[in-house]
Amino acid sequence: MNENKKWQYRCLAKEAVDILGDNHYDAHYAENLQEAKDMVLGMITEGASVALGGSITIEEMGLLKIFREGNYKLFDRYQKLPHDEIIEIQRQSLLADFLITGTNAITRNGELVNMDCSGNRVSGMIFGPKRVIVVASASKLVDDVEAAIKRIKSIAPLNSRRIGHETPCVRTGKCMDCNVKKRICNYLTVINHGWKFDGRISIIVIADEAGF
Ligand code: SF4
Repeated sequence: MNENKKWQYRCLAKEAVDILGDNHYDAHYAENLQEAKDMVLGMITEGASVALGGSITIEEMGLLKIFREGNYKLFDRYQKLPHDEIIEIQRQSLLADFLITGTNAITRNGELVNMDCSGNRVSGMIFGPKRVIVVASASKLVDDVEAAIKRIKSIAPLNSRRIGHETPCVRTGKCMDCNVKKRICNYLTVINHGWKFDGRISIIVIADEAGF
């Protein structure tokens, strides 16, 4: 990465960590994806049950392979199974020891803003798994919820294309505010702060590009 751009990512990541720490999340700075990956693995105890939220950043870290092959109980929703069996795994994963996930946006008010298709990721972030580990690039930092929604809408076509949904945005590259069954924008959530359960939500902010 260009040195000037890297400098800006570092500034944004430090700013995000300060904001999140002030809002009672367990916030951490990571210089790059590898450092973030090491931090995630350092937080998870061997033998623990683990669920993964849909996230490009997590894919880029190769965590699926690690949790499949390591001494963990993975709620593996990425298996080739009938849809109703995948939904059952997603239901069970709400009781995981750890949920590892990305976030669509972090606001300068300390909010985590997300849009889900099925709702399993955002529901687990809010309640269920004992610990939540959020991994996000500093590029997710935006001013407020309004800016977060704008960001979410700009990346939703990429996510829809990634998961193979035939939504209008996949044809045009921009949100068409569709009204189709395959719509991926179904559950918009705002987590306001990390006050409720001390240390439950850890957030690792990466001073680098990662995910969408
Ligand atoms: S509302 Fe529909 S068109 Fe807009 S981003 Fe979501 S899935 Fe795509």
